[in-house]
Amino acid sequence: MKRILVTGGAGFLGSHLCERLVNEGNDVICLDNYFTGTKQNVEHLLDNHYFELVRHDVTMPFFAEVDEIYNLACPASPIHYQYNAIKTVKTSVMGAINMLGLAKRVKAKILQASTSEVYGDPEIHPQPENYWGHVNPIGIRACYDEGKRCAETLFMNYFQQNGVRIKIIRIFNTYGPRMHPNDGRVVSNFIIQALKNQDITVFGDGMQTRSFQYVDDLVEAMLRMMKTPDDFTGPVNTGNPDEFTILELANKVIELTNSKSKIIYLPLPQDDPMQRKPNIELAKKMLAWEPKIKLNQGLVKTIDYFDKLLKNI
Ligand code: NAD
Ligand code: UDP
Repeated sequence: MKRILVTGGAGFLGSHLCERLVNEGNDVICLDNYFTGTKQNVEHLLDNHYFELVRHDVTMPFFAEVDEIYNLACPASPIHYQYNAIKTVKTSVMGAINMLGLAKRVKAKILQASTSEVYGDPEIHPQPENYWGHVNPIGIRACYDEGKRCAETLFMNYFQQNGVRIKIIRIFNTYGPRMHPNDGRVVSNFIIQALKNQDITVFGDGMQTRSFQYVDDLVEAMLRMMKTPDDFTGPVNTGNPDEFTILELANKVIELTNSKSKIIYLPLPQDDPMQRKPNIELAKKMLAWEPKIKLNQGLVKTIDYFDKLLKNI
């Protein structure tokens, strides 16, 4: 049995990861400051003796004997990470320093949940891991993008200087049950708007693209990444290369929910990337992984979740 620390474990992705790790017989410590995560997300795990929930902020040091660390703590949606930009940078950078320090002390393996945002508004399409990115360092997304880029730097430095066993994955847009209903991300926004028969808010002309990965595919990739040989650090892209325009997504959601909603167009936010699609050749080779869940399948499960949430079932 391994003892595993998941920071940001009460969030959307963290809660799915904790669930899978507990189900596989690990002893899991879920650490969260509940900024965007909730106890309800992990409520179903609380009865398990091998699951522990700790209120803690990763900007402060944390001590525990653990074998592995998954570092997910960080608000992920533009609304939430822009709410307190300085805190977002601190969470990424000081959180990485604290968790890497812990990994070094207890000789734990540590995985960083990095992001496709390190590529910024990319000039290369699809994005391979060796693309350095196109990020505005003083724009409204910079607190998140640059914070995550600096965290990657720290991870590599701890690997090179201190021999810490690190893993970096760059996660592309991921969706599924337990997304925060008010965090403004496109999949949750559109589904909630459609279920309420409200206008679907497409930003810009809706021709910008994203590639949407279902959460179960991502969790599988995370576990596989953690098991790779120690000399393999990544970064590795994890995402679903099926690419859709935001307008296509809006129409799919309307169709799958049988909604009466109409599409309305609102201004595109500053620095909103025009296209995003992962090159997943490295993940295929090193993790023997590729996403299995098609957008329609994943949307049906996510719609079901939000439908129940809205009806308080
Ligand atoms: P989320 O907001 O649901 O989860 C983040 C969790 O971290 C929340 O539970 C939050 O309360 C916690 N947290 C935030 N600041 C903290 C702090 N200072 N100390 C302790 N806990 C803190 O978002 P998510 O979608 O589950 O994202 C999880 C991780 O994956 C993030 O690091 C995010 O950057 C990364 N990621 C997510 C996506 C995606 O599409 N969902 C894409 C790329 C990267
Ligand atoms: N978006 C939109 N309507 C919304 C929310 C988002 O058109 O109600 C667009 C947004 O401008 C972006 C895309 O959907 O082009 C994805 O946005 P999200 O915030 O989910 O993720 P990110 O921009 O970080 O990829």
